[in-house]
Formats: sequence, C-alpha cells, structure tokens
Amino acid sequence: MPTEPSGTRRRITFVFPIYNEEGNIDLLHRTVDEVTAPLADRYDFSFLYVDDGSRDSSLALLTALAERDNRVTVVELSRNFGHQMAVTAGLDLVDADATIIMDSDLQDPPRVALELIEKWEEGFDVVYAQRRSRQDSAFKKITASAFYWFLRKMAAVDIPKNTGDFRLIDRKVVDELRRYRERDRFLRGLVSYIGFKQTAVVFDRDKRHAGVTGYPLRKMLRFAADGILGFSVTPLRLISRFGYLISALSFFGVLYVIGVKLFAPQTAVPGWAFITIAMFFLGGIQIIMLGVLGSYIGRTYSQVQNRPLYGVASVRTGLTQLERAVESGVDAGTGVR
Ligand code: UDP
Ligand code: MG
Repeated sequence: MPTEPSGTRRRITFVFPIYNEEGNIDLLHRTVDEVTAPLADRYDFSFLYVDDGSRDSSLALLTALAERDNRVTVVELSRNFGHQMAVTAGLDLVDADATIIMDSDLQDPPRVALELIEKWEEGFDVVYAQRRSRQDSAFKKITASAFYWFLRKMAAVDIPKNTGDFRLIDRKVVDELRRYRERDRFLRGLVSYIGFKQTAVVFDRDKRHAGVTGYPLRKMLRFAADGILGFSVTPLRLISRFGYLISALSFFGVLYVIGVKLFAPQTAVPGWAFITIAMFFLGGIQIIMLGVLGSYIGRTYSQVQNRPLYGVASVRTGLTQLERAVESGVDAGTGVR
C-alpha cells in the first residue's frame, strides 16, 4: 500500500453496530479477539462498538468490555437511529488503514475477516463478503433474493447480490464515503457507487447466535426502498412509458372506430368512439405530463442528495521527474541547463 512507509504497523478497526445484542456481545468479542490474535504482531487491531440506542443491557456490557480491553471504544448514540446510521457513525469516527464492518450477532463469521484482510493485502480497496448460503427463515431468503434481483435490474450501479455490509474498506474509501451525507442511506450501494478496486470473498452465513432480528418486515421494506430509490430513477421513467402506452391505445381506438364505420356501420353506437378515444388520449397525456414532472423531480432529487461529483483514485504526473530536473539544475521550463 502506498500510504504507509514500510515498517509501520497498519491499523485495522472493526466496527460493530449494536442494537439489543446482550446475548452476543461477550461471545462476539471473544471470537474476534481469538481470530485476530495470530495477526496481532503485524497489525494494531481495535474495536469500535456503536450502541444504537439498545434497550437491553448491551451498553452496560460494552462499558465493561471497554474497561477490560483498552482496544475497545464504545460510542453510544442518543437513540435508535437504525443499522445504517450506526455504521455511518462508526465510519465517521474510525481512524484506521482498514475498517471491517460486521454484524454483531455472529451471523458474519469473524474468521472470514482474515480472508478480507488477505485480499486487502493483495491491493484491493474494498473486499466484500458475499454469501454463498444463509441460515435464515425461508421468508427472509425469498424476500432477500427477490430484492437483490430487482435492485440489480433497477439500479444504475452494479450492486453485488447476496452481499450485506460485511466488508473491509480501505482508509481512502472510508474518506470518500464520509463525503456522502445523504439521509436515506444504503451503504452497500454507496460503496459500489464510489468504486476503487473491489473484490469479493464468498462465505456461508451462520444463524443469529442469540436475540432477535432488528429488521422486522417494516424496516426491511424501508431499507429495500432506500436501496432502489437511492440508486435508480427507473420508477420515474416508467411513468412516462406508461403514459405513452395509454396514448397509443387511443390511436388503436381510432383505427378500430374507423374500421367499424367503414365495414360495419350498422353496429356503431353514436358518441361512443369520441368518449372512449378522448378518455384514453387525455389519460395518456396526463400520465405523460406526470412523467415530465417526474423527470424534473428526479433531477431535483439527485441534486439534493448532493453526492460528490466524482472520486479520484490517484493522480499521475511527471512532476517528480520535473522536480528532480530542477534540483539537478535544469531549467524546468526549457530543459536547458
Ligand atoms: N442493528 C442496529 N440498529 C438497528 C437494527 C440492527 O445497529 O436498528 C444492528 C444489529 O445489532 C446487528 C446488525 O445491525 O449487529 C444487523 O441487524 P440484524 O442482525 O438484526 O439484521 P438481520 O441479520 O436479521 O438482517
Ligand atoms: Mg443478523
């Protein structure tokens, strides 16, 4: 990695969002501690727990943990802000060369973190953990795969399927991510959107160790909407297409009416044609106009999201060469000594 001079130990921080995880915290910490211990001579590990307004004894457990282990930091949010906000708070506060985001219910197996670190060492900036299998209810599996299918169809960026927030991200991606301040956050989408060198590591997702999911159906739907609406204006475009379709129907209506008039005038009901065709035509125009409004709203929306216009991965110039030339007495402007 270019940023660190050789010899310095690189820092890796785990970020754990915590919402009512009293049954998991101790085991989680013990497991990550064990798993990372063999690498402790190469990296400085630290653990950032973000308590997202838990209503159980999670915060007390975390406080006790921080007293036992000085690598632990606990951030207490003022109320429950939701998983994505808790992770965002964590990302805003870390100061590490790599950050590993992980769920706290041991569904994301801590040993996979080692594979993420390996890939990072190979030079990837984002290493996301992709589920090969998952131990969830049939309902969760079906809704999740439908969601990812739909999201990939709709979204303007390529968001990997079967991938949660379990991932390692390099410092430069964290820095970039901090510039994205939109309120309805779909972090995995933002990370894809940002770019840099990304790769996957596949794993088998375990069952939640203890406690219940913090994602009931209502939150899941909200989250799905954040994913789709945050990365796609396709629904708005569909409005205009639908309008054109309805208008086209009025055109076919005209053909039909002419046909009736020419070939079977005795069956023509007076006034019918005018009303039906006008109905389709006006209906179509109205929907097309909604689509026009929609395209302005879409632009307004992306403007207020206020995302950075681009991200720079590196700048390569001949500057150092030029500087060297200046140092050795060459006139940089002319190349003459
Ligand atoms: N979580 C959170 N705030 C919430 C809901 C969940 O910080 O409002 C945390 C939770 O403690 C866990 C992670 O987000 O570490 C994933 O949540 P959960 O396991 O409940 O979701 P599921 O795996 O069922 O999708
Ligand atoms: Mg879970």
